Amino acid sequence: MRAAQPASFALVIDLKALVPRAEWPLPDNGPVRVALQHAGQERVLMPGQVAAQGGWHLGFRKHLAAESQAFDVVAERRIGWAELPWGRIAGWAVACGLVVLGVRAWAQQRAGRRRAQELLRLGRVGRLNAMGELAAGMAHELNQPLTAVLANTNAAQRLLADEPPDLETAREAMAQAADQARRAAEVIGRLRRSVQEPSDTTVRVPVVWADTVRRALDLLAPELQRLAVTAEVSGDTATTVMADPVALEQVLHNLLNNALHALEQVPAAERRLLLSLGTEGTQGVLRVRDSGPGIAPEALPRLFEPFFSTRPGGLGLGLSLCETLATRMGGTLSGGNAEPRGAEFWLALPLAPTPAR
Ligand code: ADP
Repeated sequence: MRAAQPASFALVIDLKALVPRAEWPLPDNGPVRVALQHAGQERVLMPGQVAAQGGWHLGFRKHLAAESQAFDVVAERRIGWAELPWGRIAGWAVACGLVVLGVRAWAQQRAGRRRAQELLRLGRVGRLNAMGELAAGMAHELNQPLTAVLANTNAAQRLLADEPPDLETAREAMAQAADQARRAAEVIGRLRRSVQEPSDTTVRVPVVWADTVRRALDLLAPELQRLAVTAEVSGDTATTVMADPVALEQVLHNLLNNALHALEQVPAAERRLLLSLGTEGTQGVLRVRDSGPGIAPEALPRLFEPFFSTRPGGLGLGLSLCETLATRMGGTLSGGNAEPRGAEFWLALPLAPTPAR
């Protein structure tokens, strides 16, 4: 202690002696270091065990406002990695993971349910499409006999209105109309049978090729006349095959119709329609050949594909339907280009064991 001036005193406080160690409540080996600091001096109240490097450092400094004891209380704490509550952290992590997994499972379940509903909806749409196809096929098959019924009844009406009425021809026209109406009923009957028993229930009886050819050509007579085409029939007209007569007529009608559509595209003088009947091994083969423009190479592999059509307004169901019918009868339907021009389709059916007549 030394006087700077005669009237003043200087007081040196030894901080180390200020707070008695024994009065400090925490153990020495605790994690916190506490000290009092003043003017570069330090009184360590609790040495603590400040961890080595790493982790986090927490510091606290508080200036004691008392004028007589203007010290800073400094506390230090270093938290090392090893001190972290790993057990609880792991517990939380597992709990959070379980919540995330639960939410994900719930979301997946919801997505699965939505997908199943979507598939169900598509299935329903698919069934609707199938019904649409069926309806289109029916329309295609029924269109022909119904057109014939209309044409024949119209013709009969005109013939009866004549003076004197042509009763004989009118009777014939009405007979043909009745025939075609019966055919329409048979088409519907066949459809009903195939819906009730989707397996192959096709009736197969001996059919003379020539009869079917004649009936099909009769039906198309007005169209042949309009296009100035005369069908040339050659080969063994007595050939008899095993077939469903209605289905066979349907196939032939479609093939002739397609040939006429093709012939319409070439000048009248070049139009030729050839039908040949013959046998090849155990099969009767009917060929329909036209001198039309033929089939484009890119269309060839798709001829029998449902809804494939190059014809404006065409449904593209004719040939696919014919192929199905031919297969059901145990036969085949093929098509391609003919030499030197045009197209040729050939239908092969098993020959009847004994001639029908
Ligand atoms: P659609 O006649 O309704 O188009 P089809 O199944 O009868 O359907 O025929 C499919 C396609 O095959 C036709 O659009 C046409 O391109 C082709 N085709 C069929 N027959 C002939 C033929 N005689 N000559 C040329 N192309 C043909």
